[in-house]
Order: sequence, then structure tokens, then C-alpha cells
Amino acid sequence: MNPVEGSEDPRLEHLVDGIVRLAAGELDARIEPSERGDAIDAVITGVNLLAEELGHIYTELEERVAARTAMLRRTQVELEHMAKTDALTGLANRTLLNERIQEAIRTGTESGGAPAVLVLDLDSFKAINDTLGHSAGDAVLIEVSRRLRSVVRASDTVARLGGDEFAALITGAGADEVMLIAHRVWEALQESIDIGTETVWTTASIGICLRDGGYSAEEMMRDADIAMYQAKAQGRNKVQLFHPDMLNAVQERSRITAELRTAAESGQLALLYQPVIELASGKVTGVEALIRWHHPVHGTIMPDNFISIAEETGLILELGRWVLHEGIAQLGRWKQQAPQLTDFRLHINLSAAELLRSDLVGDVTGTLTRNEIEPSRLVLEITESVLMSRRTVEQQVLEKLRAVGVGLQIDDFGTGYSSISYLRDLPADTVKVDRSLINNLETDSRQQKFVAAILQLISAAELEAIVEGIETAGQAASLQAMGCLYGQGYYYGRPVPAAEILARISHSEPQM
Ligand code: C2E
Ligand code: CA
Ligand code: CA
Repeated sequence: MNPVEGSEDPRLEHLVDGIVRLAAGELDARIEPSERGDAIDAVITGVNLLAEELGHIYTELEERVAARTAMLRRTQVELEHMAKTDALTGLANRTLLNERIQEAIRTGTESGGAPAVLVLDLDSFKAINDTLGHSAGDAVLIEVSRRLRSVVRASDTVARLGGDEFAALITGAGADEVMLIAHRVWEALQESIDIGTETVWTTASIGICLRDGGYSAEEMMRDADIAMYQAKAQGRNKVQLFHPDMLNAVQERSRITAELRTAAESGQLALLYQPVIELASGKVTGVEALIRWHHPVHGTIMPDNFISIAEETGLILELGRWVLHEGIAQLGRWKQQAPQLTDFRLHINLSAAELLRSDLVGDVTGTLTRNEIEPSRLVLEITESVLMSRRTVEQQVLEKLRAVGVGLQIDDFGTGYSSISYLRDLPADTVKVDRSLINNLETDSRQQKFVAAILQLISAAELEAIVEGIETAGQAASLQAMGCLYGQGYYYGRPVPAAEILARISHSEPQM
């Protein structure tokens, strides 16, 4: 017999109801037992206890799920944070900065306040890393980021873009305030940084992009970057606001780079030759090769407008190779046309980067041999900054060049690092005094004394001096009176095509 259907006891109905509610998840449902205390009440109490227990288990489960969910959420936030911050400094990284700039542009457009982006590059960080090691470098980066944070407002974003490059997003500030903040940033980096027992200085070049609407985050970053490079180019440790002209200049440079790449192949490069004169006799003792770029559209472009670009892009290696081959081949042609010119020398300008060419020495000797030219008839002109840097690689190349008998000349002497004491043990045999030193030679007696002292110094170091940029008879006479033996300049002859050189020599009674 079915006990539920067959019974009149209402408790059984409550019991079934209760179990159905419990089964439906109503865990706080309870069944009222009677006062009889019989078997049915015992079952009711048992079900109530089970329900109680189930309730506990359920709550516990819920708590555990909540805890797990929170943990997962935290991990996710941490992962997101890691993906958007720089591990070393804890600053925002490029991704996060980019997001914030986009957001600032959006809200700025609504509120009418344009955001500003600052890009900052440390000026001498590589030297710190190289000389004090990477952990010192890291300490500097951490200190720099601390200083950056301390001078911007809490609502601004400071980011590390990588290496020693940082950026800041400044929102809700007018142009004047942005410039003020940029200068505070600049100032914060003027103070020395202590790392252990060492004290270092690291200044920064800062570029700012401050533009109204219609600008993307990428464009803001690009322009701040361009301004930063401008600050670097102007001598570093500077704040520079972006101006659209700068973008044009950058585009112009990349156009020049692309065209320069093919200039040599398409025969657009040419060498002019400027006589080197023995002052006492007026004889031409050699020539300096000076490059020109005959551009099909822009006409003749002077080296000052493309050599630095070639140096930055590495094209200088290609260019230098062409100059070397063309110059030495021309020397070979002169030798055939005028065999009596036994002592005639060719000067070629070498850029710093060319000294790092692994095949330089082989290329120089090989080209000389092919053209049957003695090494002593080639003089390589190298600016003094290269010689002063005293890096072993360059030193070794210079020593090798000297060992094969090629002449080495310090160019632009007096413009840069001229540390007099170095002069004595430089791997060079001649020194070319820069033309800026003889500007006021005729009128300024102090300048005369100064140049005379420099010439004496060069001779004391057992080097031969040549002065460039002689434009007047007066300068020539002064220099001769000071005992200077060699000179070069418009007064004696401008740079001219190869074809004009032999005629020029015959006028000056060539050395036989
Ligand atoms: P630099 O080596 O100091 O060459 C001397 C520069 O002064 C040349 O300019 C020359 O034309 C100019 N000059 C000569 N005499 C006088 C004078 O009396 N007065 C004045 N005001 N200037 C005079 P240029 O040809 O424009 O060359 C500029 C620079 O470009 C050179 O300076 C050199 O650093 C670089 N350069 C030229 N050709 C080459 C090359 O083939 N390779 C490399 N790496 N650099 C080159
Ligand atoms: Ca030169
Ligand atoms: Ca020079």
C-alpha cells in the first residue's frame, strides 16, 4: 500500500511539499514536525537536518566559488597590468600610453582641451651602461622615472618606451603650463644621480607635441619624437616644441636618403679637387677630393647637405667606397698624363663610420695597387673628434693604415675636442687647422698670437701643419710669416673638376 496516498496524516503532505521545495533549491525551507514524536516526525527532523547541512555546504561552495572568481579576476588584472607596464620602473608602457592618449584625445575633443605628449631621451645613458654596468644603468632608469613622476601631476601618465626613452601624457593643461611642466622635467634631470659610490649625470633631450583636434595618438607620438630628435641635433639637453616644418624636414631627409641610395650607380656623384699649396713656393703639392651630388632635379647639392644624412643611414660606407675608388683612379690618370708628378698627393676625407669598415685597409691597399700608386701618395683626412675618441677599434685601423704607408691627417683641427696633450701621441702625421681659426687673422692680433701658438704646438708634436680656408693675400702672408708651410683655400684655388688640375699645376711650376 502506498503510505502517502493511503494516509490521512497531513504531515505527510507537508513532508512531500518540503522535499519538493528543497529539491527546487529552497534550502531554507523547513518542515514543521508535530508534537507526536513518532516515526514521521523523526523523518521530518531528519529531512530538516539534511536541509540544514545542505545549506551549509551550499554556502561554503558559494564562498569558495566567489574566492576563486576573485583570484582569477586579480590574476587577470595583474596580467593586464604586466602587459601594460614596464617591469623595471613600474611606469606605463607604450601600449598603455597609447590607450591613454587615445582616450585623452577623445575627452579632449569633448571638453576642448588638447592633450600634450612629451618624449624624452636620455643623452648619455649608453656611456653609463658601458662604463658602470647594467645594474647601474637600471638604477639610473629607476631614479629617472621617480623624478619624472614627481614633477608631473598624478592624473598625467608617465611611460617608459624602452631603453632610455620615456614619455609623458599631460592632459587638461594649457600650452604655457605644458611648457612649464616640460621645463620642470628638464630641471629634474639636471641634478646628479648617486648610485652606490658613483655619481652620474644624465641630461635629457625632450620633444613636445601639443596639437589641437584631428590628430591621432600615433601622429602625436611621431611628432613628439621628431621634436626630440631636433632637440638632440641642436646639442642635446634641450626642450623642443614640435613645429610642422620639422616634419617636412624629416620627409625631405628620407627623400634624400632614398635618392642618394641610387646616386652613385646613376652617375650623379662627382669629385672636385682643391689644390694644396706649399706656401713659400706657391707650388701645388696635392689636391683634396671633395664630393658633389649632381641631382637631376635639384641641381648640384653640396656635401654639407647630404654627408650627415649618409652618415646617419650608413650610406656613407657605399659613398666613401665610391670616393676612394674614383679618387685613386683619377690619381692614376694624372700619373699617366704627367709622370713627372712624383710627389703629388691625393687627400680623401674619411667619415668616422668608415674606420669601422672591416675591409677598409684591404680596400685602400688593393685600390692603390690596382692603380699602381704608392701608399704615401694618399692622405686620409679624419676629423679630430674621431682621433680623440681613442676607441681601440679605430686606433687599430689607423695604426694599420699608417703601417701600410698611407698618410693620416687630422682634419678640422681646433673645432672640437682639441685636447692639446693628445696631439703628441696621435697616429697622424699632418694636422689641418680649421678655417674658423683664421677668420679674423688680419685684423685681430690676439687671433694671430693664438694661431701662431697652435702652429708651434703642432710642430712641437712633430707634426706638419696645413691651414685651410685661406681667402686673402693678407691671411696667406700672415701664415707664412708664422712659419706655416702648407695651405689651402679660395685664394689659391677653389675646388675644380679633375680636368682643370694639370693646367693649374703647370702654372705653379710642378715639382719634378
Ligand atoms: P672639409 O673636409 O673641411 O673640406 C673643406 C671645405 O671647405 C670644402 O667644402 C671646401 O670647398 C671648403 N673651402 C675650401 N677653401 C675654402 C675657403 O677658402 N673658404 C671657404 N669658406 N671654404 C673653403 P665642401 O666641398 O662643401 O665640403 C664640406 C665638407 O663635406 C668637407 O669639409 C668634408 O667634411 C665633407 N666632405 C666633402 N667631401 C667628402 C667626402 O668625399 N667624404 C666625406 N666623408 N666627407 C666629405
Ligand atoms: Ca677635409
Ligand atoms: Ca675642414
